[in-house]
Parts: sequence; C-alpha cells; structure tokens
Amino acid sequence: MKVLVGVKRVVDANIKVRVKSDGSGVDTANVKMAMNPFCEIAVEQAVRMKEAGTVTEIVAVSVGAAQCQETLRTALAMGADRAILVETDQEVQPLAVAKVIKALCDKEKPGLVIMGKQAIDDDCNQTGQMLAALLGWPQACFVSKIEVNGDTAQITREIDGGLEKLSSKMPLVMTTDLRLNEPRYVTLPNIMKAKKKPLENVKPADLGVDVAPRLATLKVAEPPQRTAGVKVDDVAALVNKLKNEARVI
Ligand code: AMP
Repeated sequence: MKVLVGVKRVVDANIKVRVKSDGSGVDTANVKMAMNPFCEIAVEQAVRMKEAGTVTEIVAVSVGAAQCQETLRTALAMGADRAILVETDQEVQPLAVAKVIKALCDKEKPGLVIMGKQAIDDDCNQTGQMLAALLGWPQACFVSKIEVNGDTAQITREIDGGLEKLSSKMPLVMTTDLRLNEPRYVTLPNIMKAKKKPLENVKPADLGVDVAPRLATLKVAEPPQRTAGVKVDDVAALVNKLKNEARVI
C-alpha cells in the first residue's frame, strides 16, 4: 500500500510568535521554521507502518514556498521514500491544500493519506476533513491507534469523553493525535541519505488547481496581557472572590 503524508512548514513550536505591527499577520521574517509537530507524527506513523510491512511506499507532500523543500528533506530523512513540493508563493488555505492533495491522490492512487490533526500556525483542523470529503473517502480524525488489515482499518480516536473505536474501509484519510506515537530524531547519516532521495517540484496549475485564497484575514492581534493575580488570606476569601468577582461558582 502506498501512503501519502501531508507535511506543513510552520514557525517552530518553541518560538514565541510576534504579530506584525500593521496587524496583517504573524511576523515570519528571520524566524526559525520547522515541520508542524502533528505532521512529524504523521510521517512517523507512515514509517512505522512501512517497517511493519503494511506500507510499501511513503510519499511526503508539501504545498507552499520553495523553502518547504527543507521540511520535505526532513520527512525523507525520517524515512519517506520520495517527496513532492507543490510550489506556490501564495498563502495557502486548507481548502486549497485539500484540492491539491486530492489532485495528487487521483494521480498517485495511495491507499491511505495521513495528515496532522491541525497545523500549529493556523490551528484550522480542516484540511484532512476537507480532503476526505473531496475524495469521497472515509475519514478518521484525531487517531491515537490504527491497525490496517487488508481493506479495513481498526481505529482508536481521541474524543472529549475518552476513546472511540471505529472500523473503516480503506482507502482512508486519517489525522494524527498527539498520543499516536513519538516521532524519531533524524540522524546525520539519514539526513545525508535524504539528499539523494527524489524530490519532485510541481505547480498548482500543473495539477489544474486554483489555490487563490477564499478567506481574507481582517486583523491579527496579540491576546490581552494577563494582569497580576492576588493572594487571598483564607478559603472563605477565595470562595467569596470566585462567587462574587469571577462568578464561576
Ligand atoms: P490545518 O487544517 O491547516 O490545521 O492542517 C492540518 C494538516 O493538514 C496538517 O497537519 C498537514 O498534515 C496538512 N496540511 C495543511 N497545510 C498543508 C500544506 N501547506 N502542505 C502540506 N500539508 C498541509
């Protein structure tokens, strides 16, 4: 079975983001970028399935600027076999990414698409769901465990009240939750090997997809500063504040 994995280049999770002074977005100039953490979990899942013999080929896909090549090289160093960069300098929104990956699925015919449950820059949590709808495939979101046997998959997914178990037909679109696995570190020999793995570069127009944004960002602002807390003398004072000031009990 071939697997397609969506990997997004985002601001590194350890960086404190700054809003641009004109409020038009987040400042990404000279900021450390990295693979979206949930996409790392997606690549790791594909590699583990290949190591277990369920998967024969892993194709990593990224939609975005030329620098996404670095992110794809990381996916190759983790164990992906080849990569496709769908290059565009436009801002890409979830619907555009879903359309691009749908077009690639029509061409590549994977048996499984693995994506992160959300990208930590836009926090959209939409692309996997939109892709499943466009393909007309079943979707399993927030997956913490999956076992594929022939043309069915047994899935455990994280929901508010606990864990939900599902059975699904393949092909399937799944999105990864935090507890699915712990991604491996890339080693230097694997980084060197990844340089020789194939990385194809295509444009959205080559796939017949219009990636023009459909949503306009009106304003991006920092959250209000938290004010300092106060110390209370006793439990009675705390309860009084919770009841009469915060009005939470
Ligand atoms: P989102 O819906 O934006 O929160 O993203 C969810 C997941 O969709 C990510 O973890 C990726 O697996 C995939 N994805 C989103 N944007 C891109 C992109 N530009 N290139 C490749 N994959 C993407």
